[in-house]
Amino acid sequence: MDLTLTPELAAFREEVRAFLAAHAEDYAGGAAREPLAWQRLLIEQGYAARTVPREYGGYGAAPDILKGRIIAEAFIAAGAPRGIANQGVSMLVPTLLEVGSEAQKRRWIGPTLRGEVVWCQGYSEPDAGSDLASLKTSAIEDGDDFVISGSKLWTSTAHLAQMMFALIRTEPQAPRHEGISYVLIPMDTPGIEVRPLKTMTGQAEFNEVFFTEVRVPKDQVVGGRGRGWFVANTTLKHERGMLGDPNATEARLNALIELMKTETVDGQRIVDHPVFRDRLMQLQARVFAMKFNGLRTLTDETAGLARLVVKLQGCELNHQLAALAIDALGELGVLYQDGPHLRAKGRWQWNYMFDLGLIIGGGTAQIQKNIIAERGLGLPREPSPAKA
Ligand SMILES: Cc1cc2nc3c(=O)[nH]c(=O)nc-3n(C[C@H](O)[C@H](O)[C@H](O)COP(=O)(O)OP(=O)(O)OC[C@H]3O[C@@H](n4cnc5c(N)ncnc54)[C@H](O)[C@@H]3O)c2cc1C
Repeated sequence: MDLTLTPELAAFREEVRAFLAAHAEDYAGGAAREPLAWQRLLIEQGYAARTVPREYGGYGAAPDILKGRIIAEAFIAAGAPRGIANQGVSMLVPTLLEVGSEAQKRRWIGPTLRGEVVWCQGYSEPDAGSDLASLKTSAIEDGDDFVISGSKLWTSTAHLAQMMFALIRTEPQAPRHEGISYVLIPMDTPGIEVRPLKTMTGQAEFNEVFFTEVRVPKDQVVGGRGRGWFVANTTLKHERGMLGDPNATEARLNALIELMKTETVDGQRIVDHPVFRDRLMQLQARVFAMKFNGLRTLTDETAGLARLVVKLQGCELNHQLAALAIDALGELGVLYQDGPHLRAKGRWQWNYMFDLGLIIGGGTAQIQKNIIAERGLGLPREPSPAKA
């Protein structure tokens, strides 16, 4: 693929850079001052939801790989936030675009893109994580409704969400992968109870969710009854893309370099210290390798294996970049909450703790390695304990 910029693309790059320069006051330190207003502005300009059709609330541009790259690189260079990247925007919206009904697309995509509706993902259960198809939360039929009972676990943002996309066993007689449906559930439906779980960040980022005879209309199923496994895998593909986004990792590398240039230890800039400089260069090389591997996801011929690799690489690298920041700051690196010597509002510590979880969330690193081996490299499948 030819990555040379034509005059038209060079002009487009200038346009994006000018936009970011003109709006520098709307964001600082990589975060938008008013996230929902920033998101609306990005959609209007075509820098977010760029290829989502206008009738569903997006910008409506034709797919253009090079323009997408130009936008990503300009935002990284400016240290500007890319807008909302959560389970609704980055996972549910592309799923609905691929397999949702017309009514579901019109009802949910616009409000989700604008950040007006927050979603959570109800997949994992106490006995169904890596082996997700063993999930037990189930529905019985009652007229036009499903009546759902069971529980979900590790449900990120369930305490904030208005909606959940959930995997529910609706066809108890079917083989386990064919008995699941992908259901959209309002979180204020009677019978839903959310219990927060505190993580080592000190905050409750995820939850247990209990369902006691929760009534949901059958037309809330996405992609057809019993097709939930296929739909879930569509969402998982986008989840892995979100968690292993090379642009986000490169932005974090840049923030780390900036930190190491501005902070000093014993009067010496951290970036000039040979040990930390060496560690930085090792990570920088891996981030660049990931970035170029990420470029392979842009065209269909090379996307398959590359997509599988970025989730594994991205999540591990994000964690290691945060680890280097903490180590480089020495005794200041351990500070997390308020205090006069706190650096970057404790963000590096928070990232270090939170991102350890993302090596597990969306499929653990071990499972991801199995998938790379089996689907990406064509190695023999691991033996199934059930058949052994
Ligand atoms: C921060 C975070 C956010 C999350 N958010 C959500 C969410 O929003 N919604 C949701 O539904 N879930 C969420 N999860 C749950 C996540 O998807 C599961 O934790 C994950 O799939 C692993 O399942 P498990 O915890 O049951 O571990 P298990 O499946 O019990 O695995 C335990 C260990 O065994 C290993 N293992 C298991 N099977 C194999 C195998 N075949 N080969 C090699 N190793 C194996 C695993 O790698 C792991 O190390 C989140 C998890 C985290 C940490």
